[in-house]
Amino acid sequence: MVMQVAIGDTVTMRKVHPCGGYRWEVVRLGADIGLVCSTCRRRVLMPRSALEKRAKKVEPKPQTGGGVPSCQCSMTLSVLLLSDFVSTTGFG
Ligand SMILES: [Zn+2]
Repeated sequence: MVMQVAIGDTVTMRKVHPCGGYRWEVVRLGADIGLVCSTCRRRVLMPRSALEKRAKKVEPKPQTGGGVPSCQCSMTLSVLLLSDFVSTTGFG
């Protein structure tokens, strides 16, 4: 199963970080996924495959500003992220 993550998503890990935090924010996408511990702000880079093994669940970025409708904004964002991902994997 391929894990879908995007910048700003919160990833909950199976194992606790030494600081006591379970939750990590996604800050970088690519061959390696950049994560920042939401408790101690430590930044790590982890191969996508390692993240898929360690992550328990992924929560989408919380919507701020109160009830953003599922409009073209989010669709456009998904397309942009997808094209970015395709280009970084050298696919085309
Ligand atoms: Zn931590």
